[in-house]
Amino acid sequence: MVCSFDEEEQCAAPSHPNIVSPSHHPSLSFLKFGIALIRKNLPLLHRMSGKKKAYATGGATFTPRLTPRPQSEKYPQPLELLYNIVVPYTRAPLLSVLFVHLIYPTLYLPALEFCKSSPYLWNDAEKQNRDKVFYSASFVVMKFVVWILVNGFFYLIEREGWFDRYKLDRKAAQLPSKKLIIENITHVFIGMFVTGPPLLYFVLYPLSKHFGMPPSDSPLPDNKEMFVIFALCYILNDWGFYWTHRLLHAAPIYKYIHKQHHMYTGTVSFAAEHAHIVEIVLSNYLPTLAGVLVTGAHPCIVFAWIAIRLQQTYEVHSGYCFRGSLLYKIGLTNSDGAAYHDFHHTKNSGNFGGGMYLDYFFGTMDSYVKIGMAEGLTSGVGRKDPDDAGRSYLRDTGRGKLKK
Ligand SMILES: [Zn+2]
Ligand SMILES: [Zn+2]
Repeated sequence: MVCSFDEEEQCAAPSHPNIVSPSHHPSLSFLKFGIALIRKNLPLLHRMSGKKKAYATGGATFTPRLTPRPQSEKYPQPLELLYNIVVPYTRAPLLSVLFVHLIYPTLYLPALEFCKSSPYLWNDAEKQNRDKVFYSASFVVMKFVVWILVNGFFYLIEREGWFDRYKLDRKAAQLPSKKLIIENITHVFIGMFVTGPPLLYFVLYPLSKHFGMPPSDSPLPDNKEMFVIFALCYILNDWGFYWTHRLLHAAPIYKYIHKQHHMYTGTVSFAAEHAHIVEIVLSNYLPTLAGVLVTGAHPCIVFAWIAIRLQQTYEVHSGYCFRGSLLYKIGLTNSDGAAYHDFHHTKNSGNFGGGMYLDYFFGTMDSYVKIGMAEGLTSGVGRKDPDDAGRSYLRDTGRGKLKK
């Protein structure tokens, strides 16, 4: 059955109270509560975002549809869609488990030993506090290292022009101003070193313990369990991000919260964290942390997951799409995500998810389909000005003025 946007409320499927198996596990109750809350508030959400121009993408719905709206042969075919669900949800958790095995003996255990050998960090504290100190300090160091490495890489290739063939198009007006970049980096560093550590120590650590996180020096779970934890992390993050992001685009609230993130129309990697505090908590922290919290994941898994998410979000905002590269072929880049989210910023029309399947189901990728999706975006389809290619915010490429 195909419903138009305006018919959506009448066509909404009846609720299924048993959609979540009736288990007493707290994480499932939490999930069940979340689903019930969304279902209960569908009419309100619908009204809040009811103006078609808020999406400018046609057939947005609140219940999943297998048939694209509008019908178009350009839409991914069912098999392609299935591939886009099954492959990432298998490959990404597998690679994440491998990543844990890489960092556990080389970074995690040495960091733990270092803390244990430090009288200030370890010996004088109570056992519980030692764990808390290690967790919070390691979290801050990990975040800082990932920030420097990933953003440093993108800064360097932008300045030197080493991978210009992978650069996404930018109009002169889309380049970020110096003022915006300074404001962005200042906020990130305040969050990392001033407000972040107390939040980790007094809020995230106790919350994680509440959900069953084991002590830092306990052994890792087996590979099967780690795979399931990561798979759940990816799924909860994708769904949580899609819906909170789509909510933040609702016409009545967009200008108060999410507009701040969209001040970057042509994003750079660190623009990922340029957002209003409400958005940071609702759309970044909650979806990202949901999986590791409800599973009571080992601290090393938490650090690995956060590092992966940070790398992903920096890359999808980088303005580079490495489609066709070797790293892309083996699944070590997020190039499809980079094209996908770049379209969201440059055109601000649909593409609310991190990947395509949720936008497909809920009808919010029509505009992206129209330009030929990632292939169209990276091959310059729809480009009106040939000079849009290769323009940089760091150097004069002879394609328009750089902003001061
Ligand atoms: Zn947005
Ligand atoms: Zn963004």
